[in-house]
Amino acid sequence: MNQSKNAQARWQGVVQLGLALALVLASGQSYAKNVIFFLGDGMGISTVTAARIYAGQTAGATGEEYSLAFEEFPHLALIKTYNTDAQVPDSAGTITALTTGEKTRIGVLGINGTVARDDCAAALQNTLPTLAELAEQAGMGTGVVSTARITHATPAGAYAHTPNRNWESSATTPDDAQALGCQDIASQLVAMPFGDGIDVILGGGRREFMPTEMSDPEYPNKQGARDDGRNLIDEWLAADSNRRYAWNGDTIAQWLAAPEPLSGQLMGLFEPSHMQYEADRARDPGKEPSLRDMTALAVKQLSAKKEGYFLLVEAGRIDHAHHFSNAFRALGDTVALSEAVQWVVDNVDLSETLILVTADHSHTMTISGYPRRGNPILGTVEMEPGKPMLDATGKPYTTLSYANGPGYRKQRPDLSDVDTQARNFQQLGTVPMQAETHAGEDVAAFATGANATAVRGVMEQNRLFNVMYDALFEQ
Ligand SMILES: [Zn+2]
Repeated sequence: MNQSKNAQARWQGVVQLGLALALVLASGQSYAKNVIFFLGDGMGISTVTAARIYAGQTAGATGEEYSLAFEEFPHLALIKTYNTDAQVPDSAGTITALTTGEKTRIGVLGINGTVARDDCAAALQNTLPTLAELAEQAGMGTGVVSTARITHATPAGAYAHTPNRNWESSATTPDDAQALGCQDIASQLVAMPFGDGIDVILGGGRREFMPTEMSDPEYPNKQGARDDGRNLIDEWLAADSNRRYAWNGDTIAQWLAAPEPLSGQLMGLFEPSHMQYEADRARDPGKEPSLRDMTALAVKQLSAKKEGYFLLVEAGRIDHAHHFSNAFRALGDTVALSEAVQWVVDNVDLSETLILVTADHSHTMTISGYPRRGNPILGTVEMEPGKPMLDATGKPYTTLSYANGPGYRKQRPDLSDVDTQARNFQQLGTVPMQAETHAGEDVAAFATGANATAVRGVMEQNRLFNVMYDALFEQ
């Protein structure tokens, strides 16, 4: 198949998808179900295992026998995560596979694999409809929640179409691309041309919506990032008088405490860039909400939608902590994800809701050596308490380490007097790299509720789109 024929076939695939949806709508029957899609960014299987042990040990147990909330789900698959042009993927290509049903290239969002990176003209001709757009078209509710910037790759995968994931604001989108009609990601969020747009938006990334002339409400010495003078928060509010905006946790606590869902759409942007790691959240000046509270608020709001809803919840910073070779924060954010999942399990009707938990890709963290049962997961390897096992050079080593990353040391350090469980400790990496990288082995998908039985075996990542699509529209 040549390139244009290939594009044609893809376009037809898109038309058929729209047709199937039109048939569902025309039938007059209500097939609507809810989908809550949790994504742990970079939450590979070793991360799940280590976080399980960490959570158990934090609760005073040995840890290995503990279960995170989603590990109790009855349906499970291994997911092949590669992008069309990359053996080891990134978050943009993978979220596109998950939200549109088509694998695509590394670094692009909501467009098919025929488009080269940065090719705005081709991107405009090769967009793929996302689950959130389809849900909005069908009159359903939609929500996007993330601890990363809400314009970062994973959350943007719900609503954006762009040949470069870094085009988050006008400042990072080339002028010639803007002239051709390629909007930056923040602009696409506030002007989503389907239904009435995303109903619940909660995350970080305020600066991408604010002009450089404007100071941040939480950190007055920081400015907005937009170089086009636009204030997208004000524009979003002005377009509908029922919309509400919050930048701090106190407002979210008030919204959560309301006895009934609030009327109108909500936007909460709690940091100029990414939100805090869970380990650091208590020190946040704006008292930013937990992933669990953001999820609870979104579910509460969306539950009022009679036609059902699609909600994407990302624990976005598991990935960032891993890139920094900091297992402490990666595990803390994974446990925070588990707490958000547990809230949903306790509060939604599984007969009409699919809960899917997966990762977009893995990281290079390994769990190794022969630590004894109950040995601290962030500690050095010990068979007997207080007696570290030694490597070939006579030095202790940690259970967790990375194949590469900033934890590389020219000289193998002596960890005898180092607290490897401290929050800022960087686990060792074998290959020196400024940022630790993603890893290419399969990730897991955990499912429960409506249509969860479709999650089984070894699956291509884009097939999880069909699992969610069928739960929303076909049952
Ligand atoms: Zn990453």
